[in-house]
Amino acid sequence: MRISPHTPRLPGWEQLLHRLQRGEPLELPSRQEAAILTLVTDGKGDRRTILGRLVLSLTRLEDIHSAIVIHDTKRSQEVLATTISRKRSQALIELPILQRLINSRRTVQEKITAADPWLNERCRCIFAMSLGEAKTGYRLVLLLRSPFSEERLAYLRLVSRLIGLGLQNQDLAEQIRREAESVASLTRQLSEGMAILDDQFVIKYWNRPMQRLTGWSPAAAVGQSIFSILTPADNGDTLRSALSQLTEQPRENLFRQEIGLLSKSRVQRWVELAGSAIRDHNQQVHQYILLARDVTEHKLLEERKNEFISIATHELRTPITAIKGYLSLMERDASSLSDKHKGYLERATAANNRLIKLAEDLLLSVQVEEDRLRLNLRPINLAVVVSKVVRDLTPKALAKDLLLNYTSPNFVTWVVGDEEKVQQIFENLIDNAIKYTPRGAIDVWFERSRSQDQTFIITHVRDSGIGISSKNYASIFEKFRRTHNTVEIRESGSGLGLFIVKSFVEKLGGKITLSSRIGKGTTFSVRLNSSEELVND
Ligand code: ADP
Repeated sequence: MRISPHTPRLPGWEQLLHRLQRGEPLELPSRQEAAILTLVTDGKGDRRTILGRLVLSLTRLEDIHSAIVIHDTKRSQEVLATTISRKRSQALIELPILQRLINSRRTVQEKITAADPWLNERCRCIFAMSLGEAKTGYRLVLLLRSPFSEERLAYLRLVSRLIGLGLQNQDLAEQIRREAESVASLTRQLSEGMAILDDQFVIKYWNRPMQRLTGWSPAAAVGQSIFSILTPADNGDTLRSALSQLTEQPRENLFRQEIGLLSKSRVQRWVELAGSAIRDHNQQVHQYILLARDVTEHKLLEERKNEFISIATHELRTPITAIKGYLSLMERDASSLSDKHKGYLERATAANNRLIKLAEDLLLSVQVEEDRLRLNLRPINLAVVVSKVVRDLTPKALAKDLLLNYTSPNFVTWVVGDEEKVQQIFENLIDNAIKYTPRGAIDVWFERSRSQDQTFIITHVRDSGIGISSKNYASIFEKFRRTHNTVEIRESGSGLGLFIVKSFVEKLGGKITLSSRIGKGTTFSVRLNSSEELVND
């Protein structure tokens, strides 16, 4: 018999629960039933206690012989509470008739037809229902002396919902406890510093590695503003602005930066900070999480490496410049040289020029790393600078039988920039386009775009060359990174060009992107802020 889902006689369960909580008398069919409800809803105890209380109290009703609660998961059916022995309960629920009822996940009662002497002797009906929502897997199985009346069914539905709520609460509490435990054990094992801040940047959690980094113990740090604890060595406000950026921009949820910090005892350490914002459903930040890693050693090593590069390159420069001088003297007298010797001279000049370029790039990369890049900013006409670079590099393209096409813009291309740096950006990009293109053409053109209040000038450099795999898009901008098999493509280079280009573009407030297809070609696009308005004023 399938049971209709309506409960015609009883008031809604919320209403009933409310009355129970207020201790009001209940107009239930019997006092026993009211007592059971009070028992099962007192909310005390863990899952097993609640269920134990339920099965025991149910058997106080004259029509119920015994009660079993099982937890039915994909893997097993575990008996959680029973008023008969566990062994017998297990054997009973394995009977095909009960398996069918349990698996149907509905509220069902059926006459006993199974030839089980124990069952046949004691009851006439079997009843099964889910406690709470079916998907939680809690099932109540009752052996009935007589079939349930409609009132009794309605009453049991109510009990099921109340118990279901209790179990759900228990499960949630258990889940929260387990999650809190795993977070706590994770943070204990973290070798990185970790801090949790509230929406006012007040420290709520501070772990031991954070103490090792900063000298501030958890007891001293918790309750303080992060800005009074983490003091930037340069008195700057990079941390404050990174955090406010997270607050103000709902789409920004992460930042990562290296900053120099002064510890409590005023010792400087370099720290890599990763911050993230936790938002509520209104996108308001209610917590910030900071992870900090000590990179002082790494930073010192980098500094020493840069120092070495600086010294070595300065030392190299003098002889290279001397060689350049002698080579140009020889070029002047080249008419007296044989063709063979002229060829040697040309090769020596080209090799020396490569050395000069390498020395310059090395020095520039050290300047970039040490943030010593000085910009001479003024409005410049981008098209004028780029067309000059194209002109200068055309012979190199023609020597490889490549077309170097330049399209003049039909709009003004004023940007605020450093002419020398802008020139170096496009020299590198167009030179690379020539280097990494065996045949075809290179196109250079401009585009103007607008977003909010800012106009941008985008310069595209497209080649039909060997292309770059998308997995290398980010890494080619790293120092000394060369992605192609240099023996195969036979192009010399240091892997510094794109690192310098990206640093320059970003220093100028711009952005560089690329799109590429292996074997088809690459397009680099440099976006710079237009200063059109400024020039027009
Ligand atoms: P390099 O001195 O090696 O040219 P870059 O930093 O300029 O150094 O470029 C880094 C790497 O990126 C190059 O070695 C090459 O593998 C790849 N690359 C740069 N530009 C292009 C391009 N236009 N087409 C294909 N690969 C390129």
